[in-house]
Formats: sequence, structure tokens, C-alpha cells
Amino acid sequence: MGEDHRQWLVNTTGIVCIGVSLYGIPVRPRRASQGAWSAASRRAVSLVVGTRPEAIKLAPVATALGQCDWARCHIISTGQHGAPVAEALRDFGLDADVQLRTACDLPCVGTLTSSLLREVAGEFRRARPELVVVQGDTSSALAGAMAGFFAGIPVVHVEAGLRSGDLAAPFPEEGNRRQIAQLASLHLAPTWTARDNLLAEGTAASRIVVTGNTVVDALHCALGQSAPYNDQVLEAADRSGRAFVVVTAHRRENWGAPIGRIAAATATLARTYPQTLFVVAAHMNPAVRSTLEQPLYGLANVHLTGPVGYIAFARLLARASVLITDSGGVQEEAAALGVPALVTRDTTERTEGLLAGLSRLVGTREVDIVTAAGTLLGEPAAAGGVNGVNPYGDGRAGHRAAQACGWLLDAAPRPQDLIVSPLRC
Ligand code: UDP
Repeated sequence: MGEDHRQWLVNTTGIVCIGVSLYGIPVRPRRASQGAWSAASRRAVSLVVGTRPEAIKLAPVATALGQCDWARCHIISTGQHGAPVAEALRDFGLDADVQLRTACDLPCVGTLTSSLLREVAGEFRRARPELVVVQGDTSSALAGAMAGFFAGIPVVHVEAGLRSGDLAAPFPEEGNRRQIAQLASLHLAPTWTARDNLLAEGTAASRIVVTGNTVVDALHCALGQSAPYNDQVLEAADRSGRAFVVVTAHRRENWGAPIGRIAAATATLARTYPQTLFVVAAHMNPAVRSTLEQPLYGLANVHLTGPVGYIAFARLLARASVLITDSGGVQEEAAALGVPALVTRDTTERTEGLLAGLSRLVGTREVDIVTAAGTLLGEPAAAGGVNGVNPYGDGRAGHRAAQACGWLLDAAPRPQDLIVSPLRC
């Protein structure tokens, strides 16, 4: 990191002297002979993972840290999502080092977050990491950032700077990420728009690195592996070359009537386009699944599945003609694949996809979803993005993030910011 960021400096004779830290957070002395890191001297970096999307988006960072000779990566699974996290990590050849036993069936976000904070803080006391990495905007990410801050450990925020501009939507994610931004020492922005959001809030430019979104790396990795769907309907439809529409719906602000309308729109579309297979990947939340089920019941060209494993989901998405989703990560993946996405929300923090013509906000009115999807299904030539540019990254975000961690610990030079993102999967 730059001279003025260092708490400790090492002169050419290897004598350690105290320097100045902009963050006021202790950083271990730089080693006089960098490059030859023994296993014992590697710097412990804790990655806090609570949910499936965090596992997917932090896997490229964990993998890249694993390739850094200075780093010892320590993955903490908070227990917020449990099994889906373990499965997603396994898809990347990773395992959590620690599985916390947080009580996650708690009645409200506040009690869940406080329970996560207590558990994660306890693990930091035990493992004593030098750096904490959190991703995105979940309760686990906020708890990880708070626990790191309270313990005096610098916090790195992956996917920093996303803003809907509405504190109430998405809830509690917009509030969580704004709070994390206040606590983080280093902000890894997925796009230049996210960097602008941070600058507008007063974050110093020197504390932001534009890495690209690590989901693009994860998607590249998933598409490079061949995995069966483990689902006869999907295997048969894939082999036959039939058109797919993929539907996902899970956001808290859509629970209840809005998800009912998304399901009703899907049913109308399925009746209108009988040759097309509508694959509805229901979320693990049973309330969400039961709302989806009733309007879709009995339709031969609708396939309602449970959550699909990540490698198979990437394969499914790559085959889709149209995506209907309220998910953040799936919007980004669709953009990377050039699959047109209809976003069933009133606001999105992923504005880059809208501006590139890769996605469209349609809200949750049945008529709006049906009209927009009908246009895309009727005119497939209109689908796709602009100039093949993926606004979300180039597949190197994990390496930039790992190097940025090294930079903060004074073990690596600052990474280059993402310059252009011309690649598609
Ligand atoms: N995903 C998956 N299986 C599914 C649906 C989604 O592996 O059945 C992946 C998807 O590819 C993306 C992530 O889960 O990377 C998105 O998670 P989710 O929609 O739950 O959360 P969000 O991104 O909205 O926070």
C-alpha cells in the first residue's frame, strides 16, 4: 500500500519502524525479505460467507488467495444458509474452515444479525485474522464487518458501492451495504458506477479499487465444468434444443402477492408459448415455493424445480432465451451471457445492465411482465446487449481482490483497476 497508509515501515536494513496509518488500524510489519513466505508466516485472511450468493462470489477470491504465497485463506461459514453454502463452495473445490452454529431461524433481521455478530466475533477472537473480507449486503456480511471493526481488524468489502438509492428496497440489503461502507478499510467496487456511488458518499478514491464483479469469474469457472442437471426434464429439453425461459423469484420485498403475480405471468406466458419450456427455479424458502406452485400447477411446459446446483444453473442460464428474475447475481450472470433479463423489481442497483440494454425493469404487474417477455420471445433478434460488452467484469476480479488484500497488508502492489470489460462467456 502507499507510504502514507503504512503503520509500519521497513528500511533497507530490515529494521522495523513505526509509520502512519490512514485507518488507525494495526497492520503487521512488512517482512524485510518478501517473497519467501513460510506456511507459519502467511497472513491470515478470513472470508465471511453466509449465503449461497456470497459463497459463489467469494469463491474466486478464495481461489486467488490460495495462489498467493503471502496469504492463508480462512473461510468462515456463518450458518445463515448452511447446506447451500457448502454445496456452492464444493462446486469450486473449496470447503469452509469453520462452520458456525448460529441460530438462523430467528424471527427478525435484527436478532439474526446480532446472533451472527456474536458468533463471528467469537471466531475472530479464536482465529485472530489480520484481514476480514465480506461480500455484498447480507446480514452475515454486516455482522462480519462489525465484528472485524470492533476487533480492530481491517475490513475489505467485495462488491462495494451498489446502491438502489432507497433505504427500504431492497430491505435490509441497502441498509446493510451502506453500514458496511462506513466500516470498511478498502472498498472493492465491481464497476465504475459503484465507485462513483462511493465517491459521492465521501469515500476517498485511494480506498477504492475497481475489480469487476467476481460473479463473472465464478460463471467462467462453472461453464468450464460439465455437470449433469440431475433432472430428466432439463436433460431432455436441453438435448432437443427446445427454447428455455428461466424464472427465479425470491426477494423479500416480493414475498406474497408480487411473487404470486410473477407466477401468474409465467402461467400466461406458458399458455401463449407452448413450445417453450419455462423453468422456474424456486428458492429454498418454502413460503416462496408455495406461492409459486398454485398458478403454475398442471402446465405441461412449466418445470418447477427446487434450487439448482450452481454448475447446472450456469448451464441452464447459458441455454435460456429470456430470464425473468428479481435476483441480483442472476442479473449479472445473464448480462455476462448476453441473455436478456426482465427484472421483476421497481428499482435495481445493477443499472449498468439497464444502460447496456441487457436488462429491463418490469416491476411485478402481470401485464407488464407478459408484454415484455412476449416482445423478447416474439423477436429474439432484439435480444442481447450492446457491442458484446459485459459491464460487470472480465473474469479477473478474484485476482484483483486477492491482490488488493495483499496491498492492504503491504504484501503486494496495488492491483490495476478494471479498465474495460469486453469479454462475454
Ligand atoms: N443460483 C443457483 N441455483 C439456483 C438459483 C440461483 O446456483 O437455483 C445462483 C445464481 O447463479 C447466482 C446466485 O445463486 O449466482 C444468486 O443467488 P440469489 O438469487 O439467491 O441471491 P441474490 O443474487 O439476489 O442476492
